[in-house]
Amino acid sequence: MSQAGYPSEVIIREVGPRDGIQSEKAEVGVADKIRLIDALSATGLPRIEAVSFVSPKAIPQMADAREVWAEIRRNPDVFYSALVPNRKGAEIAAAVGVDGVQVFTAATDSYNLKNTGVTVEDSLTRVRDVVAVATAAGIPVEGTISTAFGCPYEGDVPPGRVVQVTRWLIDEGITTISYGDTTGMGTPRRVRDVIAALQAEAPEVTLNMHFHDTRGTGLANVLTALEMGVDYFDASVGGMGGSPYAEGATGNIATEDLVHMLDDMDISTGVDLQALIAAGRIAQSFIEGDLPGKVLKAGPRLS
Ligand code: MG
Repeated sequence: MSQAGYPSEVIIREVGPRDGIQSEKAEVGVADKIRLIDALSATGLPRIEAVSFVSPKAIPQMADAREVWAEIRRNPDVFYSALVPNRKGAEIAAAVGVDGVQVFTAATDSYNLKNTGVTVEDSLTRVRDVVAVATAAGIPVEGTISTAFGCPYEGDVPPGRVVQVTRWLIDEGITTISYGDTTGMGTPRRVRDVIAALQAEAPEVTLNMHFHDTRGTGLANVLTALEMGVDYFDASVGGMGGSPYAEGATGNIATEDLVHMLDDMDISTGVDLQALIAAGRIAQSFIEGDLPGKVLKAGPRLS
């Protein structure tokens, strides 16, 4: 039994192979990407964001996405998704047979303009295209709203604005949405405010939290979200990644740190921590510098 007040089970989506690698300085080869995804596929993780189908000019690290996707050993128990920015990306994702696609926008125009060249409202055309292509192919679509807990250009983001963008995505047919703390500005207080607003004003949405540990609040934010009943989180093995558009925004929360904490709270994830740490060592072998994951370095509290 998990402790009272927390979900008994949590779904983790591993985003290291996509969000992690695309933000790393080291150029990661196809063979290493495949080795990492195959290792992650054998850890019990239920969901892996494996690749993104984006312009290689925009994100050079994902230029080989088709090759990677074609050669990984797919575990039938794992749901593999791809991040896509537009119709073209969705068409590729549908053609190669991913299990799901993730389409994104942001809570703030400044960030979205920098990241994608269009305002949030204008990005809805692309969202609509992605939903149309994916729906025709029978592939589920989830959304991401970046800068949901703060924006490097606009500062604090009012929770009402996050609700507004959420409602726009709902209007496009998206009912599972990931809230990105893109540059690590989230704190338990911000997380509580945003989740409370969403639960009150968009209760039909399934919430996923995508936290970064840029300023050391990553797992505190997870705990806050757990207390509010959220049971779906993104994390990146070893804490790989950040945002290439936000200087210094390194580090999604580390998957093994998350699993380690949840294990001790008797919250089930289905993930084998030792196997996950082994996958983290693979990531460390091709990443420049030390990965920020803490359990990767220190090991579990009882080992
Ligand atoms: Mg991220």
